[in-house]
Amino acid sequence: MTSAGSNPQRIAVLGATGSIGSSALDVIARHPGRLQATVLAAGRNVEALVELCVRHRPAHAVIADEGGYPALRDGLRAAGLDTRAQAGGDALEALAASDACDTVVAAIVGAAGLPSTLAAAHAGKRLLLANKESLVLAGELLMSAARAGGATVIPVDSEHNAIFQCLPPQPAGNGTAGLPGEALRTQVARLVLTASGGPFRGRPRDSLDTVTVEQAVDHPNWSMGPKISVDSATLMNKGLEVIEAHHLFGLPGGRIDVVVHPQSLVHSMVEFVDGSTLAQLGLPDMRTALAVGFAWPERIGSGVAGLDLLAGGGRLDFEPPDTAAFPCLDLAFRALEAGGTAPAVLNAANEVAVSAFLQRRVGFLSIAALVEETLAALPATPAGSLDALREADAAARRHAGSLVAARGLPA
Ligand code: NAD
Ligand code: MG
Repeated sequence: MTSAGSNPQRIAVLGATGSIGSSALDVIARHPGRLQATVLAAGRNVEALVELCVRHRPAHAVIADEGGYPALRDGLRAAGLDTRAQAGGDALEALAASDACDTVVAAIVGAAGLPSTLAAAHAGKRLLLANKESLVLAGELLMSAARAGGATVIPVDSEHNAIFQCLPPQPAGNGTAGLPGEALRTQVARLVLTASGGPFRGRPRDSLDTVTVEQAVDHPNWSMGPKISVDSATLMNKGLEVIEAHHLFGLPGGRIDVVVHPQSLVHSMVEFVDGSTLAQLGLPDMRTALAVGFAWPERIGSGVAGLDLLAGGGRLDFEPPDTAAFPCLDLAFRALEAGGTAPAVLNAANEVAVSAFLQRRVGFLSIAALVEETLAALPATPAGSLDALREADAAARRHAGSLVAARGLPA
């Protein structure tokens, strides 16, 4: 492990131009000498990637969209940088596993993040895992790759990072990926994930028929990318997080609860068998979780202020989720229970539905309906291999896509 005084920790930020990517780069820039961005990768926005390269001077820049290669190469050259340009998914995977980095921030959105996240796990990196869809799609394979590869997985989804901080530190490099083994799991009674409730908390189901994209992405507490913002509005985000928690911490869905906490200050809780509940609190700013990920078990500054519990009325409120208005949470619990390919189908159908909503082709309530119908049409089958999961993902995308085409507005 790298710490102050030795060589800097070399970091690949995958999804560098996104919300998590920019928070990660903010924390990295606060610790020159200790943290260094050596690989920056993005989907298709070459201009934004070149700008980040000017600021952070990585050794490598990768654009996933192969058509972006000439513009990236020329942009880096014109900026006078010796950053090496690469393009395509294979380059991304190879760099995530290469000696160019010790640490990988997996912050690509959606199932598109799975290959590079898996590559980092196999290669034994310190893996700061934000890309929750890769765990939902292939959680067992990803976690066993991390254990076999000797990776240290540090969840940077705020809830899972909170739980990680509440659990006693696990030695990394012993086949546990730094996460709880069986002995610790028997000491945990349940995990309690907090949810903000999103922008439509408290609204009855029929009033959600006409909500707009702008309203759906306008999250009350967090500033995030468009896909996860819509997931927060439908509560699918919390459903994905239940499945994510199952894979990270090894507990069944029956020992993972969700409670709505509108202030987003308590990020999640662990209840132990002796009746103790430990919680992690802080302002809603992902830089805290990222700083934990870079420095754990040490602590470094993140740029996030401490918490003033008396500010904003001095209240911490809790309420149950409204699963009638927001059925996606139950759909996710049911997919976890069904197992096999069901979570992959849930995730893929949701990605298609959210994308159709963001393109204004379907309404807000159609998101849950499309996911539910796709799950019903493609019952769970065993998912022993990555190929089986990829097939389930593709079949669900085709099915949900055909439902959108039949019912939605044209693209
Ligand atoms: P975002 O939309 O802001 O950024 C996504 C990033 O992924 C961009 O850099 C984009 O260029 C890149 N990308 C998209 N498709 C790609 C592809 N095919 N290949 C390579 N790169 C690609 O998203 P975000 O809000 O930063 O979220 C990223 C991930 O982190 C998601 O899985 C999300 O669920 C998770 N997460 C985000 C937050 C948050 O606060 N934003 C919190 C918890 C978890
Ligand atoms: Mg979260």
